[in-house]
Amino acid sequence: MKRRDTPLFKQQSTPCLGKDMPRLFPKMSMAEVDEKVRLLAEKVYACALKEEDNKDALALFTVPEDCPIGLHEDRERALKKELAEQQSEETTKRKKTFRLKRSQSVSLQIPTCSTDWAVPVITPLFSPTAPEPSLPESFPEFQRVTISGDYCAGITVEDYEQAAHSLLKALFIREKYSKLAYHRFPRTAARFLRSAENDKWREEDEVLPDVWPVPHEGEDPYSMEGIPEDLNYEMKMKDGIVHVYDNAEALKQEQPHSLPYPDLETFAIDLSHVLAMIADGPTKTYCHRRLNFLASKFYLHEMMNEMAELKELKCVPHRDFYNVRKVDTHIHAAACMNQKHLLKFIKTTYQTEEDRVVLEKGCQKVTLKQVFNNLNMDPYDLTVDSLDVHAGRQTFHRFDKFNSKYNPVGASELREIYLKSDNFIKGEYFARIIKEVATELEESKYQHAEPRLSIYGRSASEWDGLANWFIQHKVHSPNLRWMIQVPRIYDIFMAKKLVPNFAKMLENIFLPLFEATVNPQKHKTLHVFLKYVTGFDSVDDESKHSNHMFSYKSPKPEEWITDDNPPYTYYLFYMYANIMVLNNLRKERGLNTFQFRPHCGEAGSITHLVSAFLTADNISHGLNLKKSPVLQYLYYLAQVPIAMSPLSNNSLFLQYSKNPLREFLQKGLCVSLSTDDPMQFHYTKEALMEEYAIAAQLWKLSTCDVCEIARNSVLQSGLSHQEKKHFIGPNYLEDGPDGNDIRRTNVAQIRMAYRHETLCNELSFLVDAIKADADSTIPE
Ligand SMILES: [Zn+2]
Repeated sequence: MKRRDTPLFKQQSTPCLGKDMPRLFPKMSMAEVDEKVRLLAEKVYACALKEEDNKDALALFTVPEDCPIGLHEDRERALKKELAEQQSEETTKRKKTFRLKRSQSVSLQIPTCSTDWAVPVITPLFSPTAPEPSLPESFPEFQRVTISGDYCAGITVEDYEQAAHSLLKALFIREKYSKLAYHRFPRTAARFLRSAENDKWREEDEVLPDVWPVPHEGEDPYSMEGIPEDLNYEMKMKDGIVHVYDNAEALKQEQPHSLPYPDLETFAIDLSHVLAMIADGPTKTYCHRRLNFLASKFYLHEMMNEMAELKELKCVPHRDFYNVRKVDTHIHAAACMNQKHLLKFIKTTYQTEEDRVVLEKGCQKVTLKQVFNNLNMDPYDLTVDSLDVHAGRQTFHRFDKFNSKYNPVGASELREIYLKSDNFIKGEYFARIIKEVATELEESKYQHAEPRLSIYGRSASEWDGLANWFIQHKVHSPNLRWMIQVPRIYDIFMAKKLVPNFAKMLENIFLPLFEATVNPQKHKTLHVFLKYVTGFDSVDDESKHSNHMFSYKSPKPEEWITDDNPPYTYYLFYMYANIMVLNNLRKERGLNTFQFRPHCGEAGSITHLVSAFLTADNISHGLNLKKSPVLQYLYYLAQVPIAMSPLSNNSLFLQYSKNPLREFLQKGLCVSLSTDDPMQFHYTKEALMEEYAIAAQLWKLSTCDVCEIARNSVLQSGLSHQEKKHFIGPNYLEDGPDGNDIRRTNVAQIRMAYRHETLCNELSFLVDAIKADADSTIPE
């Protein structure tokens, strides 16, 4: 391996892009909002709350396929509308312009050359007689599925335009929030959005997260040298968001350092647009039809090109499914080993150090031997059955029972000793067992994992404790990338009187990070630890119900003093807001940034997926996208990555055979496979492989399918720019076959081209609609 000559901290891991980031958060006020949108959004929210209560089968958001009478009425209505439209001269004329445009651009669906294609694909500037551009070399030949003729048949022009408007609006909103937080936004969608604004996409405007590459062999990953100087800024929590001030005077004057501090009102307005959209009839119908089309199109594509894809893969030297890179994109550190591994580890520690003091109860010191004596148990007799950490039939829809599975033999002492980082033995056993897992990953070479460690927000000292644990036990591994999970358990802390209000919990979580960013010399261990942290997760049982309805009138975190837990959206907004401001501060200092990757859509209200659409870089689970065609289509258009764990779902919320993973993959959503908790769900040493193997067997996935999932997992992960270039190809940021290196990913170029052209096609429908709309507005 080549040695790098620049020290790690000076490295800019991603190319220097996005220089002209907005330094202010564009604010809106409620007065500017269309009253209709606000009311509809509130209705959706209320309805979602109600639905949670009575689990109504006929949700407001889905087209009720299983209700023949409803379907019939629906069709009748649509027919009437179309007939009425035919009689209107105006719409006939507009429809004609659409059709003309489409017949020109259909032949040009395939992007021509990567540098300048946004223009030719979407805006058919060519005259109808212009010659068809020839395919560039990287675009493979295969049997393409195309539909010709009136492409918006079955839906009225007016409905189509309305759907296109609202879908594009949602994409613009997501792009804004992504850019501000240094989250990723795919190039294809960005190009189409620019084209909708009659602008051109530029690489310089692209905003990417900054993740540092792992230190190379021979370098000390825990080195405390070359830490940046302290700035001694002042910091204060205001309305739940940490504000930074240049000095005490600025703090007194209330003039914060220039950073984009978001506000609840603007967020609530943006959110209400997307909320209103998911219940809007025409948009719903449009998305439903497009998703059905995508599924059918893939079916045809597979039928015609499966052999060709396979042939391509057979010609790739060296690479096969076993040695493509796979990242376990969603796994909890406290359950990252399998049950057998934990059992062996417990037995080994008992055999070798039974007299070691491992606990302190009151002021009494307890040895390992005494712990087992008190439990009336001889570790020799312990089996995976008596360990009882595996989830099964008893945990289905019982998250409470599932949580207790974290206690080996049902004893919280054993969890405390073996699975915690802040116990009497300073988390030594926990670190040792994680390092054993890491060693196995390093030996397998091609597998990586992103374990979540917990920060609860009980006290401000948690961060230092965790950083010390990490450095003291040398837990870093090149195959592990760390995430921080924050459980949504304010209500528990409040009941125990650990915090006075919600703002204090946020302060405990975020203020130490701001301090370590501003004054790294004063917080050296935390500074070093943060180099290896790539993101934040928000975790807990989503089906837990909150009675509060989130809106711009929701109390500020300082005023949140009730025992009730704030709703999911409230948690997400304040986590996003603080991470976003922190990222901007860190970017200014040349430090790495963090991504927000919450658990979302595992259970509970559909509105969770709306909040994450705005605030998250990517999500875990996403099962509830099944329930909303609009959201599912939006997640597709914006290619929001989803880490799915069908084995985990099978024990908790959804039978394996009903899992939407295969359906999502076919339609082209960016899905990856992950294990969630190997301790509870898996049987073998290679939990991630188990996950792939079961999915491949049950759904008869092809090699190309599983390699596509693996490639998605690298894209979604918090690996650095350099590693991604190395693992999936130097041009991975480019979408389509241009961005794929088949020798590294083992994904057929035909598949890449199919996905890319299909996505371009869907996006161009939307942009065409609003452009045609602009063209046909004739001044009076
Ligand atoms: Zn999880």
